[in-house]
Amino acid sequence: MQQGDHGDRYGGAQRTETWQGEEWYVRLVAGASAPGKRYRCPGCDQEIPPGAPHVVAWPEWGGVDDRRHWHKACWNAKDRRTSRVQRSRNAPRY
Ligand SMILES: [Zn+2]
Repeated sequence: MQQGDHGDRYGGAQRTETWQGEEWYVRLVAGASAPGKRYRCPGCDQEIPPGAPHVVAWPEWGGVDDRRHWHKACWNAKDRRTSRVQRSRNAPRY
């Protein structure tokens, strides 16, 4: 796990994670700063309610404009989701 130090623009501390061969900036948000604004979590395709703590992540190659808002649990489970998809795709059919 590497420590990123590019958090100036978005403010506050963030870290980097490697996922699917890419570097991702990951930032924990205690609650939505813009009330009424809703985000859709790409992990479960459900909306994140305003004010709910969640994770903001964006790929290094895409930049901060490509950031996505995830439920904390969905971000933590993203590897499980990915492997499950691959496994089911390669699984033999009965
Ligand atoms: Zn989610």
